[in-house]
Amino acid sequence: LKNSFKFSLIYTLILILQTLSISLASLPQDLFHLKIASKIRTDEQSLLSVSTDYGNLTTSIPDAVLYPSSPHDIFSLIRFSYTSSNPFPIAPRGNGHSINGQASAQDGVVINMMSLGYGYHSNRINVSIVNQYVDVGGEQLWIDLLHETLKYGLTPRSWTDYLHLTVGGTLSVGGISGQTSRYGPQISNVLELDVITGQGEMITCSKDQNSDLFLAVLGGMGQFGIITRARIILSPAPQKVHWIRLVYTDVLTFTRDQERLISAEGSPLRLFNYVEGSFLVDRGLLGSWRSPEFFTDSDYDRMSQLVTEDGLGGVYYIEGAVYYTDEITVQVNPELELLLGELSYVPDYAFIRNVSYVEFLDRVHDGELKLRELGEWEVPHPWLNLFVPKSRILDFDAGVIKGILSNSSAAGIILMYPMNRNKWDDRMSTMIPDEEIFYTFGLLRTASRENLQVMIDENDKILQFCNIAGIKYKQYLPHYATTKGWMKHFGKKWNNFLAMKAKYDPELILSPGSTILSSYI
Ligand code: FAD
Repeated sequence: LKNSFKFSLIYTLILILQTLSISLASLPQDLFHLKIASKIRTDEQSLLSVSTDYGNLTTSIPDAVLYPSSPHDIFSLIRFSYTSSNPFPIAPRGNGHSINGQASAQDGVVINMMSLGYGYHSNRINVSIVNQYVDVGGEQLWIDLLHETLKYGLTPRSWTDYLHLTVGGTLSVGGISGQTSRYGPQISNVLELDVITGQGEMITCSKDQNSDLFLAVLGGMGQFGIITRARIILSPAPQKVHWIRLVYTDVLTFTRDQERLISAEGSPLRLFNYVEGSFLVDRGLLGSWRSPEFFTDSDYDRMSQLVTEDGLGGVYYIEGAVYYTDEITVQVNPELELLLGELSYVPDYAFIRNVSYVEFLDRVHDGELKLRELGEWEVPHPWLNLFVPKSRILDFDAGVIKGILSNSSAAGIILMYPMNRNKWDDRMSTMIPDEEIFYTFGLLRTASRENLQVMIDENDKILQFCNIAGIKYKQYLPHYATTKGWMKHFGKKWNNFLAMKAKYDPELILSPGSTILSSYI
């Protein structure tokens, strides 16, 4: 106890000193004589603005922040570090929506990527109508990309649930949502990248050109290079969406219907452009921040009653979307009627709303604004995201959803939906289970000071349960405290990870916040 008190006192002192003064900074002073010096800030406000993230679980104050106005500024910084006798860490930070400090750079420099897109003359989203792709800066937000491509009647096909994330940030993890089962994750929708490696080289890469870098960077957690441009596939944009929720009281029917909806292409069951699913443990979550406005008042009441029905412990619902452009189909969509007739949800518990394409894709933003107003956005978020093989999803449901979380006082939003492995490229860095269908399980938790530790302990219990039960999950947005954990995560791909790191970031400069190699050296 004495030691831990001493440690926390020293730690606090370091934080205060780091914040107040740059004289302790370990950065070489020559850095401040480079041409980019005017874009490097060491003031308290700049340092604090990048010292934590959406997770609010870690604090890590860098020595400086770079506000680049061109990819060349990033190149200069990395080249300087790489060729210096004391290379220092550098982390690109997109919109800072990581959970565990992945975009931090203790004793180094954080690059505020979004400053690349500031300013009047910024022209960092270029649509090619003829080729149906867009060249977009890694710092751009997906919401801005959506609005720009829609001007041409085009749209990216694969999304995340929340669009106020940067292109570079989500391509560094994978980028998943209900469209993944149909169009693959966002990393499967990239044709080409411009990347600045840890040696300060600017390289264009694709599946045909410098393919090892292309495959490593996609899902690569910023370990091999910084994405300054991505070329992303576009397709014609729909105008409207049938946004659907179908309620289930047992996991078997719920998962069977989900799997039918993502089944063989060409089947009439494949009507949905988007398939997700959730378990609602608490009626308080019915109007949660993920889509506060979905249910009408009377539907809300019916759902509340069902969720709290004795013995159920909560309900599952499939969330689907069918895109359309024709105004006439607003009233009736015969194909959709037919499809709903094939599914086994609780009778009378199908809810359909017709909304615009933008309203559907940007549905989480309303919730964000409300939480921000209440001061409940910037609180700790001990999220846990796993990919679970289909063969064990019922065991997982019994042990985790109906087991560990059934006694939880704050389970939070629980996502559970299947994806097809054949829509992924296993050579990319995001790790996925070794089965044709696997489920994503997302535990999106909002903590208070009182229940944070309880939630962290529950997350650990879930992982322990899987390990003991032999469920071969992969963490999505992975976080491990030890190299052993990372080696297990990468499995057979660990040696390739090391080889790519040695080739493209031999001084271990980039994105140290993931702590993949910090205990390795
Ligand atoms: P940051 O958090 O700033 O950075 C993330 C990582 O990428 C860091 O390691 C950083 O160093 C690196 N990085 C950043 N920019 C670049 C770049 N240009 N080149 C190379 N590396 C870079 N994920 C999903 O897949 N689906 C979802 O539906 C989804 N919903 C979310 C909803 C919310 C409210 C939040 C907070 C997160 C959600 N996420 C989701 C997770 C999110 O996709 C990741 O955390 C993503 O990395 C965040 O992007 P960012 O721009 O904030 O990146």
